[in-house]
Amino acid sequence: MFRAPEPFQANTWPCTLVSQPALLEALIAQAQQHRQFTWMPGTAVKALLHQEHRISGVQLADGRTLEADLVIGADGRHSLVRQQANLEMETLSHAIDLLWFKLADSSCLPADNTLYAIISGRQTMGLFRSAEGSLQLAWALYENDPTDWKTTDWSQKLAAASPPWLAQHLLKHAEDIERPLLLSVVVGRCPQWSIPGLLMLGDAVHPMSPIRAQGINMAFRDVIVAANHLVPLLQDPVDSNMLDQALPRIQAEREPEIIQAQALQNQELAQGDRLRHSPLLRGIVKSTLPFSSPIIRASWLRRQRQLRQGVTEVRLQV
Ligand SMILES: Cc1cc2nc3c(=O)[nH]c(=O)nc-3n(C[C@H](O)[C@H](O)[C@H](O)COP(=O)(O)OP(=O)(O)OC[C@H]3O[C@@H](n4cnc5c(N)ncnc54)[C@H](O)[C@@H]3O)c2cc1C
Repeated sequence: MFRAPEPFQANTWPCTLVSQPALLEALIAQAQQHRQFTWMPGTAVKALLHQEHRISGVQLADGRTLEADLVIGADGRHSLVRQQANLEMETLSHAIDLLWFKLADSSCLPADNTLYAIISGRQTMGLFRSAEGSLQLAWALYENDPTDWKTTDWSQKLAAASPPWLAQHLLKHAEDIERPLLLSVVVGRCPQWSIPGLLMLGDAVHPMSPIRAQGINMAFRDVIVAANHLVPLLQDPVDSNMLDQALPRIQAEREPEIIQAQALQNQELAQGDRLRHSPLLRGIVKSTLPFSSPIIRASWLRRQRQLRQGVTEVRLQV
């Protein structure tokens, strides 16, 4: 076991866990201070509107239409907008899905804001205390794993792969372990993020691997870059040619970081796979831990830097 204290580099922010619903509510509250912003919760987009060779708005599921100088599609990894715009996504191979477990009592975790990664035999799992205080546990479900996850006795299985302090806690709360939620992982990239009148951002054009939780970071950083390019152009009257010309520049600025982050995530997965598939390697690591632990720790921290701070400089300039 090694620990990585936060922040592990001088002059950086400590990595912390943020409640996603609370963050989204705070963002909506901020946006609502602008009179141009309209929040329409629960209103799905059903189709794109076209005018000549440009996207000119959207049709909503309730039949209403919204005209727009520019449509930004950020509707997640199964994006309907991407499909309607015929923007192909190249799926990158990804050999794991995740099962998410939640347990209200997280008292076995000694400190806040600590992420545990546990490798036990061929199994990997991660756990942490969520912003709401519950224990969240992710179990890697590898390709060709014969486990029928819906009928497994999870308290026993999780405990068997856990160190004693965690096993004890899981068995004590066996009754409270909720049925896991399956996160079927999609990793991919669209070669093209825009067509005239439409820009796609976030998971809709580059769903990320769950390794080192990059999805939200990358989606936010897309938005900052898009704002830097678009806000100066969204002045009355809007020149749609200028807008359309800016769209590929947003992709060009964001794509290198997405490619590199996905490559780093892949390397991480490959390293875990080597360990999983080689009992010899696992044996060597285990028997040399007092000496190898500082080396593994240093290597982990080095790779961590790019994934948590980004590869390119992204700053809001508008
Ligand atoms: C269980 C789970 C745990 C995760 N944990 C983490 C984590 O810890 N850290 C991390 O960085 N990432 C995590 N991710 C990934 C992260 O949630 C995504 O990468 C990130 O939210 C992408 O942001 P986005 O805005 O591009 O898309 P999303 O957050 O998926 O948002 C898309 C939005 O579009 C809406 N939508 C979809 N279709 C339509 C439509 N037709 N009309 C209107 N609206 C529509 C959806 O309802 C949704 O609100 C997790 C994902 C899952 C599923």
